Amino acid sequence: MKPTVAIVGRPNVGKSTLFNRLIGERRAIVDDTPGITRDRIIGETEWRGITFNVIDTGGIEPYSEDIILKQMRRQAQFAIDMSDVIIFMVDGKTGLTDADREVANMLRTSKKPIVLAVNKIDNISQQAMIYEFYELGLSDPIAMSAEHGTGVGDVLDAVVNYF
Ligand code: GDP
Ligand code: MG
Repeated sequence: MKPTVAIVGRPNVGKSTLFNRLIGERRAIVDDTPGITRDRIIGETEWRGITFNVIDTGGIEPYSEDIILKQMRRQAQFAIDMSDVIIFMVDGKTGLTDADREVANMLRTSKKPIVLAVNKIDNISQQAMIYEFYELGLSDPIAMSAEHGTGVGDVLDAVVNYF
């Protein structure tokens, strides 16, 4: 059985952008328009000679805080159940939010390893944005940009180390 990695996080942090980059196709819908229902999407990728499955846990129907939180709980639970390693993605441009804390609390209860990926660190001057995410009390935050590709290798190194 190939290992499975789920990308989990609140809406709009860049999960689908990373997913598409990893599987090398535009399979997941990248959109910052809320209210679109998206199915979970699974694909295959490889890093350092190791092939593994990646799950994009998109599928968000905002408009009410409660629905967002409910949806995120479902996503987090799915990731916990199905995955060997979880990429918990946060948005370094926005900074730490209550929604991030909510997801973190879900993930914390699992025994699954968590790689904390701070996305949207598009250039080196934004590197300091990662430090506030230490507050989550998870693993060390790793800076990355799903759009530009920088730091993605660091995230994948951390992921395959857990296999
Ligand atoms: P998801 O809801 O977590 O799946 O997020 P998406 O992948 O749909 O991305 C949400 C928005 O963030 C889109 O407008 C993306 O273009 C943008 N985005 C994703 N990755 C990056 C990044 O590394 N840097 C910047 N600046 N924007 C990004
Ligand atoms: Mg998405």
